[in-house]
Amino acid sequence: MTLQRTLSPIRTYRNFIAGQSVLTRARGLARDAAIRLLAAGRSPDKAGIRFPYYHHVFDDERGGFARQLKTMASMGDFISIDDAVAMLDSNAPIDGRYFCITFDDGFKNWATNAVPLLLDAGAMAAFFVVTGCIGTSIEDDRDKLLDFYEQGDLLMEFLSWDDCRAMADGGMTIGSHTINHVHLTELDDAAAQAEMQGSKQTIEAELGRACDHFCCPFGRENVDFTAPHHPGMAARAGYKSFLTGHRGAMRRGASSMMIRRDHVLAGWGDYQLKYFFSS
Ligand SMILES: [Zn+2]
Repeated sequence: MTLQRTLSPIRTYRNFIAGQSVLTRARGLARDAAIRLLAAGRSPDKAGIRFPYYHHVFDDERGGFARQLKTMASMGDFISIDDAVAMLDSNAPIDGRYFCITFDDGFKNWATNAVPLLLDAGAMAAFFVVTGCIGTSIEDDRDKLLDFYEQGDLLMEFLSWDDCRAMADGGMTIGSHTINHVHLTELDDAAAQAEMQGSKQTIEAELGRACDHFCCPFGRENVDFTAPHHPGMAARAGYKSFLTGHRGAMRRGASSMMIRRDHVLAGWGDYQLKYFFSS
């Protein structure tokens, strides 16, 4: 555990990955080189909805995120998650390329970095919060916050409910990412339901507006959720969507209760976006 990383909250991607092993970084570089080659042979989808998903826009990722928003704007149109779900549920043909940007977990850098850049770009996004972490303080809740990541030495600052209200007032959507960032498959049905319902009730009480969208923590089918069990449970709790961590475009006929998303880091180059937004 490095002292510097636990003393103050992480504000840069550079510090966020400072504890990664040499092997992890070497693998990342090899993968990056492969994607650069493969991207040259691909062209973006002709039609469909892509759900890029981020966790953070750190201070040193602002420039990259602004560039990515420009790149996406040149490829298609930004739509809200309400519109994306309505398009999927209508079962009408989806002509054109659309981006519904999403964020998971609830970090403070959404309010300080991501939202201002989204507003500048005229884009909206859906932000999925772990309600048990919203309103925590890095002084009083240090142990809980250090537990958020397995490494145990990454101190992340989370949003306040005032931040969430300001984001919603600015046109962003706040959705649920459970109360405790759980693996749903490790819980019995009553506990999984409580995570879905409790987080929804808290968001609705704090924001004074409906919370219609649910994003499954970790998001892997048969590892972190099972289908149709957990999407069905979310539907019964009143959610209109269930978002996963599996990649791919959403086209006509795809279910809003099994939304595929493309994980993106704000520092990635355009060739990486081009690669992942192609199929
Ligand atoms: Zn998460």
